[in-house]
Amino acid sequence: MKMFVKTGDTVVVLSGNDKGKQGKVLEVSPSEGKVIVEGIHVVTKHVKPRKMGDQGGIVKVEGAIYADKVQVVCPSCKKPTRVAHKAVVADNGKKRSIRVCKHCGEEL
Ligand SMILES: [Zn+2]
Repeated sequence: MKMFVKTGDTVVVLSGNDKGKQGKVLEVSPSEGKVIVEGIHVVTKHVKPRKMGDQGGIVKVEGAIYADKVQVVCPSCKKPTRVAHKAVVADNGKKRSIRVCKHCGEEL
């Protein structure tokens, strides 16, 4: 699956319990089409102490959510946007595709 989000992107959640919340993408899983976003879809996990003196107990971790439930927030205009692609010619003369904001056209 082709992913439009990248690690480090700020995204907004479009549906579900975390609708409207924003967070930074911590992990992208193209094979599942899922992303893990900081502070989003936090689930509690019970952890057993692994060694002596270890606390164990309950920890909160971010669960993966479907990438199509999030939209990238443009760092330039701060609006959630669909990702557009634009071909640009780099300094070395090679063409490459960059991700741009549909609102302001700035590179994401
Ligand atoms: Zn923008």
